[in-house]
Amino acid sequence: MEQKIKELEQEARKLESTSHDRNSLLKKAQSYGENFLSTLAEQPAYVDSESMGKGVYKLPFEDEPKEFDQLLEVLKSEVDRPGLNPASGKHAGYIPGGGLYPSAIADYLAAVTNRYTGVFFSSPGAVRIENMCVRWMNDLIGYPEEAAGNLTSGGSIANLIGLVTARDDSGIKAKDFNRAVIYTTRQVHHCVVKAIKFAGLQEASLRTIPMDDRYRMKANALDEQIQSDKDEGLIPLTIFASAGTTDLGAVDPLDEIGDIADQHDLWFHVDAAYGGFFLLTEYGKKVMRGIEKSDSATIDPHKGLFLPYGSGALLVKDGEKLYDSQHMSANYLQDTYKATEEASPADLSPELSKHFRGLRMWLPLQLFGVRPFRAALEEKLLLTRYFYDKIQQIDGIEVGPEPELSVAFFRYIPESGDANTFNKKLVDEIHRDGRIFISSTHINGTVFLRLAVLNFRTHLEEVTLILSVLKEKIQKLEAL
Ligand SMILES: *Cc1c(COP(=O)(O)O)cnc(C)c1O
Repeated sequence: MEQKIKELEQEARKLESTSHDRNSLLKKAQSYGENFLSTLAEQPAYVDSESMGKGVYKLPFEDEPKEFDQLLEVLKSEVDRPGLNPASGKHAGYIPGGGLYPSAIADYLAAVTNRYTGVFFSSPGAVRIENMCVRWMNDLIGYPEEAAGNLTSGGSIANLIGLVTARDDSGIKAKDFNRAVIYTTRQVHHCVVKAIKFAGLQEASLRTIPMDDRYRMKANALDEQIQSDKDEGLIPLTIFASAGTTDLGAVDPLDEIGDIADQHDLWFHVDAAYGGFFLLTEYGKKVMRGIEKSDSATIDPHKGLFLPYGSGALLVKDGEKLYDSQHMSANYLQDTYKATEEASPADLSPELSKHFRGLRMWLPLQLFGVRPFRAALEEKLLLTRYFYDKIQQIDGIEVGPEPELSVAFFRYIPESGDANTFNKKLVDEIHRDGRIFISSTHINGTVFLRLAVLNFRTHLEEVTLILSVLKEKIQKLEAL
């Protein structure tokens, strides 16, 4: 047996890299990253490719090892070229992502040291870092000391945990799920509808409350609906308001909704996945006034804090409620239960083993300080307004309401023919061109193009380019 073990060991030891290997890998990776970033400004925001990355299949997993150079080449041509380039400042579609460089370094360090951040006992310092991030965001919302939260992979999971927490707190039994009611608007993010399904609440009623002319929930209509549902013997469960709808950037009247939730004693969740970090600005604080009245909130650091993908957060005003909903003990973890000074992420989410997500947020906040984040967010708000003003100078452009945050929507009314067809062609034309990226949506059957400014690399120069490409493409299509 010993002989066999030693034989296996020889092969197994290849999984450990030598210092020389590490340096070589790191140097190549760094040079790859450097090349990507230093040419980013000239790279297209979108590549409409034929192969759609199919070339990755040319490298199947095999017993024999491959060269890193060969793998990087495939990464370059098949992964980092086709499709959308979310690192680009010229990406102003959907909700743009970020990709702060220090977060990449943090991910590298987190992966190298591989601290176990599920429970406080195993990595107290790392868990403190995560809890620091949560506390900082709780302060931003205006939640009290007893608030808690969890760093999730994104907003969808944060909304799901929020809904489950609300469900558990209500004490409602499965047999009554068909009498439960959830209140939102038609503009709520579709992941909330998914969350309802995952929470086993698909039999509950989803009320889409009417919106005002700026696509914000009408608070009085909400109040009336809750009252009438109560009168009919239904069980209002939770309100899902949006602080920055993904589609149009609208902020529901949180202050009034907070009072209504309070009056009816019902859980109030704010989906601030997109808009939440605008709370760092004075203007954002005004628009989202009343957010502190909510019971829970979702906020996405991989949106408004410009982190790379994989960072969302759920925040809960009464931390105990999150713990009661998510906590579970296990025999084999008994040794970990003696360390209770700080909350363990595993007690506040469905996850146990998890990536050390806090580090990628902690490091840029420490290295840059908060001020540049605040400036960048204010800049994005102003850039959107700037765009909104300028786009109206193009003949034939019709705009939506004045942007509340950093989404502006608009369409072109052609000299003749169907406007929807024209605007769909316009967005296709922009994607084919690829220099910039914006996306489209439709509201009550009308197609609109939308600009969303949230990439930290989007500045005046990029917005100016977007405007000029739009103008050029409109002229081209009109000339046809
Ligand atoms: C982006 C977004 C989500 C979904 O978040 P992910 O991080 O993509 O899972 C939910 N709600 C709103 C308002 C969003 O903008």
